[in-house]
Amino acid sequence: MNNIEISQIATLPTKHGTFKIQAFKELPECGEGKEHLALFTDDLKEIDVPIVRVHSECLTGDALSSVKCDCGEQLTFAQALIAKEGGMIIYHRQEGRNIGLLNKVNAYALQDSGFDTVAANHQLGFRADERTYEIVEFILNHFGIKKLKLLTNNPAKMESLPNVNIVERIPIQITPNPYNENYLKTKKDQLGHLL
Ligand SMILES: [Zn+2]
Repeated sequence: MNNIEISQIATLPTKHGTFKIQAFKELPECGEGKEHLALFTDDLKEIDVPIVRVHSECLTGDALSSVKCDCGEQLTFAQALIAKEGGMIIYHRQEGRNIGLLNKVNAYALQDSGFDTVAANHQLGFRADERTYEIVEFILNHFGIKKLKLLTNNPAKMESLPNVNIVERIPIQITPNPYNENYLKTKKDQLGHLL
């Protein structure tokens, strides 16, 4: 990936602690012009094997307090843990497992009429998961991160980073609510997530 525009590094104080933030923009000739973020702690360079969370954008969960999925809670968990232990969150702007916001809302409408999250994607002509991870490897490489502990409940995510040495998987513990119980069950049964 050559055509990536990289921002300066700025400070971002959050409810969970103070991070450094840097943006990575895919230029149009390289992908869809998406802008991704790296949120990292000041001590990142000194940590031998940092904790890394690759968080896929979920506008409804991350910003609108949706409890239909567990993304918002996962992000909060990741920020709190990484602020304490040091490491990095890569905010991966591939909304709705990369089907985009409009399609995700259509998938939600199908879910309202009884489809599960995977069946709804299929109904719209998408695979259950359309995400790609080249930009994630680019960002890790940019920071010289060769070894990491991956914060995820999704073992498939470990396979999507073949050039990274993942020495450990750290699970995220989320308590299901009545709205996301079925969603979490589908992720477990059909997408191989470990809860
Ligand atoms: Zn979500």
